[in-house]
Amino acid sequence: RNALESYPAQCIVDLRALRDNMRHLVSVSGDAAVMGVVKADAYGHGLIPSALAALAGGATWLGTAQAREALALRRSGIGVDRCHILTWVYNGTQVPFEQLIEQDIDISVGSFAGITRIAQAARHTVASCGKRARIHVKVDSGFGRNGFTPESFDQALAALVPLVEEGLIEIIGQWSHLAVADSPDVPEFVASTDKQIATFHEFTARMKQAGIEAPIRHLANTAATLDRPDIHFELTRPGVGLYGYEPDPAMGTPQTYRLRPAMTLQAQLGTVKDVAAGHGISYGRTYLTPDNTSTAIVPIGYADGIHRSASGFDMQGAQHVNKPGGPVRIMTREGARVLHVSGRVCMDQFIVDLHGKASELGVQEGDTVVLFGPGRGEQAGEPTADDWARAADTISYEIFTCLRNRIPRLYV
Ligand code: PLP
Repeated sequence: RNALESYPAQCIVDLRALRDNMRHLVSVSGDAAVMGVVKADAYGHGLIPSALAALAGGATWLGTAQAREALALRRSGIGVDRCHILTWVYNGTQVPFEQLIEQDIDISVGSFAGITRIAQAARHTVASCGKRARIHVKVDSGFGRNGFTPESFDQALAALVPLVEEGLIEIIGQWSHLAVADSPDVPEFVASTDKQIATFHEFTARMKQAGIEAPIRHLANTAATLDRPDIHFELTRPGVGLYGYEPDPAMGTPQTYRLRPAMTLQAQLGTVKDVAAGHGISYGRTYLTPDNTSTAIVPIGYADGIHRSASGFDMQGAQHVNKPGGPVRIMTREGARVLHVSGRVCMDQFIVDLHGKASELGVQEGDTVVLFGPGRGEQAGEPTADDWARAADTISYEIFTCLRNRIPRLYV
């Protein structure tokens, strides 16, 4: 802990929040099992600790984007007796399919090249250890990313059925991903989700006609896990909800959905100093201090994953955009205050106008500032990753997944 505190910033992950979020997602999933999506280093929260917290909260599946991540989970001791793992595969040429099959990792298949390569790998594993490939057939029901489109359903089944009959593959799942499930109030988006569901059902029907059935169908991300119980099927697949966020602030806040953000990003202030009115701040001098004031350095920047687009521009609006930057919560003598990135985010640091004299505010070098954490949002004096997302014109997902390993993760 001391070693971690010697870094100028820390990312604190509350594993109880992760566990409790998963408990909640399990309870709203009803009879469906739940897969904790832990891809991309568990959305920046740390793969193994987050996976263990998800399992403690009742997940019985884990999902990863890359094969490496799935293998790392098994290597950490999370065996098949503990949970199933699904990895979605994007590029069949670089995937160690044999290792995946040997390690009892389920594999998504959504391309003809993928079918061929999985069959080749399964020929070896059936001979070497008696293991068939456990596959989940990916359907492109309208996302336009991975999976078989309706036009190729029959051809896909014609390629898969002989492999089932030969004992090389076992079809465990049929799955797809939703494009706009996080906009439940927009009628055209609801219609588009309904169309995706209809396409999904059409594939199930065609599989049945071909004499096979996938015991597990899954389609629901966090948004659909929370808002569309009609499409939970046998398994839900929440990601961002596990980390305590709703997918889109337009849906509400984490509290609306009884979720608790798990990550707090904090730093210790660098130089704090007095500057005169009209002082140019950071590259481009895009921010000029409106009054005599003090500034403080927050010692993390875009090299740490702080978005440069969360820079704050001249509040006077002279020739620049009038835009506050990302928020930080600073303790002053009179209590906590939310202040903003002033001027451009640099590689290793950014600057905050304290809008007052540091000596009067009681702010000094070494003080801890919170960029975001659990709470009710910037308006309530408790900035969250959603507030940073708004400032950077992105989504909370990108705020946490961009945080680099130069910021140590501290688990509580
Ligand atoms: N399923 C797939 C295929 C995904 O790519 C993702 C994440 O993008 C998820 C599930 C989880 O989505 P969310 O984090 O919105 O719950």
